[in-house]
Amino acid sequence: MDSCIFCKIIKGEIPSSTIYEDENVKVILDISPAAKGHAILLVKEHVANVFELPAELAGKVFSVVPKVAAAIKAELGCDGMNILQNNGVEAGQTVFHLHIHFIPRWKNDTVNIKWAPLGYADGEAAELAAAIKARLV
Ligand code: 5GP
Ligand code: ZN
Repeated sequence: MDSCIFCKIIKGEIPSSTIYEDENVKVILDISPAAKGHAILLVKEHVANVFELPAELAGKVFSVVPKVAAAIKAELGCDGMNILQNNGVEAGQTVFHLHIHFIPRWKNDTVNIKWAPLGYADGEAAELAAAIKARLV
């Protein structure tokens, strides 16, 4: 993907502060961090989002998450961490090359990841669960 900024970072055409790299992923510090130590894991293959991610590659990519999270936590001394991943404009994705955010969290920090909890009508959750389950066989 010639125009993709993350492909350029992966190829080394654009500099980045790299904290981990292997055959499948490159993990860098986010250029506009939500908090100090905010990192993003880039999948080396150009895949736009999780819906395009082959399961076999997903296994390799997500297996890196715990050790990267632990290293960031050990270095930053954060109290917690949000690990999240945006798919699609409506979900907040701005770079359309699959990546996973690691956002260190501290008590009373300035990060804001919140939603207003909704609810289900009687029986609605069971019906929906069954419908989704049917698509997973
Ligand atoms: P998204 O909103 O797509 O989930 O996240 C994209 C992230 O990529 C943002 O947090 C943004 O700050 C980061 N980002 C965008 N361009 C660059 C860049 O050139 N270098 C680095 N290190 N991060 C970038
Ligand atoms: Zn790309």
